[in-house]
Amino acid sequence: MKLNIAIVGAGVSGIILGALLKKYLNVNISIFEKRNQLFNNINGLQLSPNSTQILDLINFSEIFKKEEFLSIEKLKVHDLYSGELFSEILLKFNKKQKYISINRSLFLKNIFQYFKLSENIVYEEIKDIDSKSNEIIFKNNKKFFDYIFLCDGIFSKLKKNIANQSISFSGLYALRGTYDLKNDNSSNINLWLGENEHLVNYKINNFEISQYNYVWIIKNRQNLLMSSESYDDTNQYLHEMFKEKYSEKFNFIDKTKSISVWPIYKVKNIFFGYKNIFCLGDSSHGFIPSRAQGASQAIEDAYVLFKLLEKNNLNQKNFVNQRLGRIKRIIKKSEMTIFIYHLRNTLLKFIRNNFLKTFSNSKIFSSFLNKDIFNFKL
Ligand SMILES: Cc1cc2nc3c(=O)[nH]c(=O)nc-3n(C[C@H](O)[C@H](O)[C@H](O)COP(=O)(O)OP(=O)(O)OC[C@H]3O[C@@H](n4cnc5c(N)ncnc54)[C@H](O)[C@@H]3O)c2cc1C
Repeated sequence: MKLNIAIVGAGVSGIILGALLKKYLNVNISIFEKRNQLFNNINGLQLSPNSTQILDLINFSEIFKKEEFLSIEKLKVHDLYSGELFSEILLKFNKKQKYISINRSLFLKNIFQYFKLSENIVYEEIKDIDSKSNEIIFKNNKKFFDYIFLCDGIFSKLKKNIANQSISFSGLYALRGTYDLKNDNSSNINLWLGENEHLVNYKINNFEISQYNYVWIIKNRQNLLMSSESYDDTNQYLHEMFKEKYSEKFNFIDKTKSISVWPIYKVKNIFFGYKNIFCLGDSSHGFIPSRAQGASQAIEDAYVLFKLLEKNNLNQKNFVNQRLGRIKRIIKKSEMTIFIYHLRNTLLKFIRNNFLKTFSNSKIFSSFLNKDIFNFKL
């Protein structure tokens, strides 16, 4: 008998898990998704070698044309106020490794279409699950599944019967904008460090007119009265503050085509699930995206779950054993990174900047900084 599998959420973890299951296992898959406009988010996504090697298992190079993503070489670190370039940190250590940036919607849409996941999708918001009987409740019906995978993101509501599901506001807001630029050869991510703020800018494809993405992360404890239900929001106060501070300095701001503001939340406790219900991605361990690891960790979760299922070894203990230590380390690094990026103390900033200027251009430093994150054994 074929296993019946439910995936709740067609975001990063849901779609990658769906693709892995469809390619390698003979199981029945239903993917439940509450939005009916799936691919309308034009923001960028960075994916590091730990997750791009997993994408190779689902035919990445066949699915994507080489203009549809950008192979990143370096992270260039500058001072946000003086513009001084501190360092160029290598992100690509060898030919085999891929650190890429890509349009998030294109990324998900191409994989969705390639694996014909439209055959598996049910456009329905799941309001509840019965954790005792392993059933999903929708349209006043209950349906049993052998496994339920909760890929429902940071605002997951379905953990309510099985976990303490609280999330907390990190005190950070992300303002994201996109713009187009013609004939530009850059293959680097630019990062500008300020006090309680930083700015990241990168290209997300390689067409003749390429698309760019910038993200301004600012600490602001004020309650800006934004929705805590989704990430698709706008905020006039932050838009204006950003424009006022930086539109003279960065001419790409005038070229902005779309802009959105997201409050950044994190989960209070990591939670991987209960019995045959498993949580993946942000639903399990949403954290501050300062090392650009949210989507990459969601992809790793999907891979580990798929592998355990393939080997007939899927249970909470095995999943936790393989994921908890690594996720904890990455959360710690992400928290430390945001602290270092946003330093305000003059002495600490002096030490940070001089350290970066002196050491960070060496390959050894780059590898030391990223080795633990990039190395993920398949
Ligand atoms: C500002 C910012 C920048 C980021 N940049 C990066 C980056 O560069 N690189 C990176 O790796 N990560 C980045 N991340 C993090 C990354 O976007 C997330 O970690 C990743 O999308 C998590 O994937 P997921 O599958 O857990 O959830 P999501 O991709 O959020 O998907 C959740 C899905 O579940 C659906 N859903 C929710 N509830 C229900 C329900 N009850 N019924 C049916 N469907 C439901 C939602 O509609 C959605 O489609 C960033 C995050 C932020 C905030």
